[in-house]
Amino acid sequence: MEADLIITGGTVLPMTPGAAPIPDGAVAVRSGSIVAVGPAAEIASGQRDAEVLDADGGLILPGFVNTHTHLAMTLIRGVAEDLPLKEWLEDHIWPTERALMNADTVALGTRLAAAESLQAGVTCVCDMYFHAQRVIDEVVKAGLRAIVPESLIDLPTPSCPTPEAALACQRDLLERYVNHPLVVPAVAPHSPYMVSAANLVKEAELAEEFGAPLIIHLAETRWEVEKITAEKGVSPVAYLADLGILSERTIAAHCVHVSEADLDLLGEFEVGIASNPVSNLKLASGLAPLPQMLARGLKVAFGTDGAASNNTLDLLRDAQLASLIYKGITGDPTCIPARTVVEMLTIGGARVLGLAEKIGTLEPGKRADIICVALDRPRAVPAYDPFSHLVYAARSADVTHVVVDGRIVVRGRELQTVDVPALLVDVRTATETLRQRIQQ
Ligand SMILES: [Zn+2]
Repeated sequence: MEADLIITGGTVLPMTPGAAPIPDGAVAVRSGSIVAVGPAAEIASGQRDAEVLDADGGLILPGFVNTHTHLAMTLIRGVAEDLPLKEWLEDHIWPTERALMNADTVALGTRLAAAESLQAGVTCVCDMYFHAQRVIDEVVKAGLRAIVPESLIDLPTPSCPTPEAALACQRDLLERYVNHPLVVPAVAPHSPYMVSAANLVKEAELAEEFGAPLIIHLAETRWEVEKITAEKGVSPVAYLADLGILSERTIAAHCVHVSEADLDLLGEFEVGIASNPVSNLKLASGLAPLPQMLARGLKVAFGTDGAASNNTLDLLRDAQLASLIYKGITGDPTCIPARTVVEMLTIGGARVLGLAEKIGTLEPGKRADIICVALDRPRAVPAYDPFSHLVYAARSADVTHVVVDGRIVVRGRELQTVDVPALLVDVRTATETLRQRIQQ
């Protein structure tokens, strides 16, 4: 079949179950879909008019999937550091957001996050923020695939004065973004402790009506578990299960403080778990029982969380750190091996987001979300095993080309869709008052 884009000149990691790397492989793309994967000589034969993207001896693999973030929070990267979650959130993050975040700054922060994500090899994100229409406009312009909800809490938000207004906004987006090539609209009640039972149920009903993802923070801190257990008599996970909130469309961020019974429920309802190891470590919230989740076959992958608690959107860095931390705390060097980490970054992330039919592997029929990772630095030579190289030696700065939905969005490390120098000027200007206040 005639292709319009061929990514070639490297080792292809299809990431389909058990598939071996294809040395000197290639991927052919037509109208944004992968049409062939295999040895370069085979793929190239008979192709005359296709554009060729050369991996230059590097790796060709599916783009990384960031299963939980708050894109626009890039603007408050580094605003408050070395504080416990509750004080960090209530005394610093929320007041700063109230002062800084409006429709225009959300758009600017999202543009910054999209640029950072794409250059780090992230081709799909699950966002959770406000002014969703502006978020959608920015990710579409940047060429980043995204699940985008309008978030709901019981208090006024930067975009919606009431939960009813947030519900109306969500319904409007769910109606208008059916089958969009890049955007999946969603609902997102913040957490069991910031949203009433009645509003949680309304959110679940709306998600059910449209078959949409429901994104929620869950069992992030010990404080949350104690509060919900004291008020409801059960754990946060059991509380959501009792309310009928959990389903295979639920994307639960964190799940740090979960019991064996909670893990049973997460498995039973096929909940997607977005684990945010760096954010959880930085806020000293704890660490999710990732090895147990994986051993049970739960849908679990990595997220960065927002840049205010990370402080980057560098998903590869976070996955690398996680892979080492769990070896250290379990005393088991076989814990979460390198190939599993790369699976979690790609097809595992797609599974958590309910997008495994569409992205996450390189195989005919899937959308072309593809990255190339260079092997041209001293730290990359020799690279005997591509999985071990990606997890223990590579840096996200080694990502050279990024294709999303068949569109080349990063070429030779240069973002093609956003004017990065102008963006950095705009961000510095928009955050100047905040910088002066913080540095006083
Ligand atoms: Zn979060």
